[in-house]
Amino acid sequence: MGDKPRVVVLLGAPGAGKGTQGMRLTARAQIAHVSTGDLFRDAVRMQSPAGQRAEAYLTSGQLVPDQVVLQLVEEYLAKLETLDICLDGFPRTYQQAIALEELLSQLGLSIALVLHLHVADSIALERLVDRGRADDTIETARHRLEVYHAATEPLIRHYNEVGLLSEVDGSGDADAVESRVWDAVEMALNLR
Ligand code: AMP
Repeated sequence: MGDKPRVVVLLGAPGAGKGTQGMRLTARAQIAHVSTGDLFRDAVRMQSPAGQRAEAYLTSGQLVPDQVVLQLVEEYLAKLETLDICLDGFPRTYQQAIALEELLSQLGLSIALVLHLHVADSIALERLVDRGRADDTIETARHRLEVYHAATEPLIRHYNEVGLLSEVDGSGDADAVESRVWDAVEMALNLR
């Protein structure tokens, strides 16, 4: 761990395994795992102002408006100390990506690595329906995948162009994916 937190972004469709791999990174390397989806689900449960604004979007599988997401992330990042972090489910739009870069640069931080966990839609869909969270009915799962392709997938090209992207095959069991993820993270964060 360095003096300043380093930021790893986990990019991938819903069902690609970002949550599972984020938690594994935490267990393995003391990298804090921040899932905006989890933050929103907690906010909805608590019925906080952000939760009330986000609830209908979560239920229908739509993206929460950028402004609401950014406020939540900003509050979270402001509390960061020295632990490296992995962002799961954020950024999800080009506007969020630009806002994240601005926010990090204000804090003197930058993205060390963007991992694209890649799986076929059929695998993502199967995993989403199997895990059966309230926002994962077959209809919302399909819709969430469409939203991913339209709004989030273009970020892959953006991060590739700026030289931060690492492609990781997210198919197969979680242990196999973990070792691929770990190879990329170890190298980018100099953990070897
Ligand atoms: P997830 O657990 O990452 O699949 O997120 C669950 C839901 O939370 C999404 O379907 C969105 O409604 C909302 N959400 C999470 N992260 C974001 C984000 N970065 N931008 C917009 N909406 C988000």
